Amino acid sequence: MLLLIPGPVTTDARVKAAMAQDYAPWDNDFREGYRQVCDGVLQVAQGSPDEHVALALPGCGHFAVEAAIRSFVPPGGRLLAPSTGAYAARLQKLAGEAGRVAVPLAVGATERLDPAAMAAALERDPTLTHVALVYSETGSGICHDVPELARIAHALGRRVIVDAVSAFGALPLDVSALPAIDAVVLTANKCLEGLPGAAFVVARRDRLEAARGNAGSWSLDLADIYQHTLAPNAGPRFTPPAPTLAALAVALDLYRQEGREGRLARYTANMRALYDGVSELGLSPYLSRELQGPIVVNVHAPDAPTWHLQLFVDALKARGYVISNFTNTEQPTFRVGCIGAFGPDQMRQAVTAMGGALRDLGITRESAGVAPFLPQPLIA
Ligand SMILES: *Cc1c(COP(=O)(O)O)cnc(C)c1O
Repeated sequence: MLLLIPGPVTTDARVKAAMAQDYAPWDNDFREGYRQVCDGVLQVAQGSPDEHVALALPGCGHFAVEAAIRSFVPPGGRLLAPSTGAYAARLQKLAGEAGRVAVPLAVGATERLDPAAMAAALERDPTLTHVALVYSETGSGICHDVPELARIAHALGRRVIVDAVSAFGALPLDVSALPAIDAVVLTANKCLEGLPGAAFVVARRDRLEAARGNAGSWSLDLADIYQHTLAPNAGPRFTPPAPTLAALAVALDLYRQEGREGRLARYTANMRALYDGVSELGLSPYLSRELQGPIVVNVHAPDAPTWHLQLFVDALKARGYVISNFTNTEQPTFRVGCIGAFGPDQMRQAVTAMGGALRDLGITRESAGVAPFLPQPLIA
């Protein structure tokens, strides 16, 4: 079975195999491996060990997003949170529930965040200490230019929290070159191609020192987790998802072999195989080619009376491919992830299976609907 969802992703057999063991989290061998995994994550972020640190948190990505907001935005503090889609909406909700004020900035569902609009919003309201950005909006599939946006925020004296969960390891992000960034949030189970259960925050050491007392939650206090790392022979604070972290060590080895650019190129090839393939089937991708990011593709549901998302998902699963059985777009779509341990040949086979699944539903190329976008030339 190939997972074609935007995380957790299909993993290499060697990554899965690393889980098939019992690990004692406070054993000295595990402590060493734990620190190496954190250092490996920091390297991917291009952090410098003197200035930055990668902190591990057990759990899903949203826990780490909340931890970052709580730790860096003081209670009652205000952050600009551009409404780029479903995952930005979750971030706004996490902030609000944590007693921080997330000030939205309207962004069209199929638009990239306009740097000038962000700058104007920050200039209008000097009480906004932070801006929180989603790098790859999993709801739409659009990637926002986080490095450029972080530079602008820096020029305006503001701090940045990046939800890079679906982007980290594929899209470029150099924390050493972007001093405005307080936190980059990621998980093991997306572009790093590890297993679920471990989240991370890459942060600056000086900002973590200054963040003491902010969180209002011991569990989600990054400043406390950071203090814990400073002890000699430091290990995890509380019980970590040890098998997931052991698997991530293997996934990071494979990552280093492929390199960030190689990984992004493979995902981009997966995305193009899908984008072109569904167009061939007579379906229309939700985004224009220019806006389509490499992580996840939404496709307009066929305009056919027999269309039914769950039946399509089931018919595809019977052929060996799992896609999401929900979407985050206003219009009916289906969504397919392009990330994970597979390449464009497998994506082309998946597209063939999608054609078969559509036929099961009685939908043909002719009845599938007309593309709202003119086909654009392939970018080589
Ligand atoms: C996957 C994802 C998350 C985290 O999801 P969890 O289910 O909490 O792990 C956060 N932000 C984005 C953009 C994501 O794609």
